Amino acid sequence: MARYDLLAAGKTFTRESLAAREPSLWRYSELLPLREAVNRVSFGEQFTPMVPMPSLGEALGMERLFMKDEGLLPTGSFKARGAALGVSRARELGVRAFAMPTNGNAGGAWAAYGTRVGIDAYIVMPKSAPAINKVECVMTGAHVWLVDGLISDAGKIVGKAVAEYGIYDASTLKEPYRIEGKKTLGFELIEQFAWNVPDVILYPTGGGVGLIGIYKAIRELQAMGLLEERLPRFVAVQAEGCAPIVRAFDARQTESTFWDGANTVAFGINVPKALGDFLVLEALYESEGTAIAIDDASILAMQRRIGETEGLFICPEGAATIAAAAELRRREWIAPQERVLAINTGTGLKYPDVTLPKLELLQPDATIRIETRK
Ligand SMILES: *Cc1c(COP(=O)(O)O)cnc(C)c1O
Repeated sequence: MARYDLLAAGKTFTRESLAAREPSLWRYSELLPLREAVNRVSFGEQFTPMVPMPSLGEALGMERLFMKDEGLLPTGSFKARGAALGVSRARELGVRAFAMPTNGNAGGAWAAYGTRVGIDAYIVMPKSAPAINKVECVMTGAHVWLVDGLISDAGKIVGKAVAEYGIYDASTLKEPYRIEGKKTLGFELIEQFAWNVPDVILYPTGGGVGLIGIYKAIRELQAMGLLEERLPRFVAVQAEGCAPIVRAFDARQTESTFWDGANTVAFGINVPKALGDFLVLEALYESEGTAIAIDDASILAMQRRIGETEGLFICPEGAATIAAAAELRRREWIAPQERVLAINTGTGLKYPDVTLPKLELLQPDATIRIETRK
């Protein structure tokens, strides 16, 4: 993992100096692996909103429920953070082409950032990946293959290509820079909470890179004396159809084992065995956090409820974190006044296949009846 001279960085990386910089992930340059700013690959990334959820929070018994909405990043998911840094650093290293397995959003992001600077993307994804992700990769010029299997199978195929052609391996945690991009999510949320640590952070965990990244960000800020020593309690949220981290956490293990028959609507977290599982589990144990699995029906019901109460159309993975918060509140693991932050990792627009109820079809001369809410 990337390490920095925190003492040197601290000379210019201060609360005050940061506040005066552009509101984007690039503002954290001292703690990013890029040497030269000219190598930045950017679509104009901005800070993502920290959205309070007062209506739903009240209904669920949480007074301070927030959602950080990563669906507004370029390519519609927080994978843009990893791709922005990963591709920029690859460019700096002179990489001309990379290969990677993906469940969809990482491929979409890396293809876009890569193509922007003429780096070729070779992408293998499960044939069951969301259609939009396949379209994104194709439309941004990647070479795309589908595999009749899971992301782990895609990973094996990429591994063989890396061995045979020596192509740059952009798989999760096979290169150390993607996580540095995802780390900026942690810096950003701490700044948005005015340099306070939330009590609980819920993260939809597939490979777990985002969770590890937030944890690393907080640790670095603490080591620099910029943040109190307290950690937020991290919650790894998984789907019942694919919950290797939850199973390992419940058994107090330090590593997970492969989850057979992985299957969930929350495709971004359909990862049967994460390479960085031990790091995710370490963050959970160190922070006195937990891991919890949510079934698909509850995920989809919560996705709809979030839209109906807060007007946010988020992805199933993000909805799982709110469903998890509701369940942990029920179990009193979360107290009513605690500051609870759920991470929404992508926009709901990426998943047009969510069940659409039958809508009434009108003739052009029809009239409609409206009953307003009291
Ligand atoms: C990739 C992805 C995740 C999981 O992210 P990790 O950091 O790899 O655990 C969650 N949600 C969405 C929408 C994703 O694309």
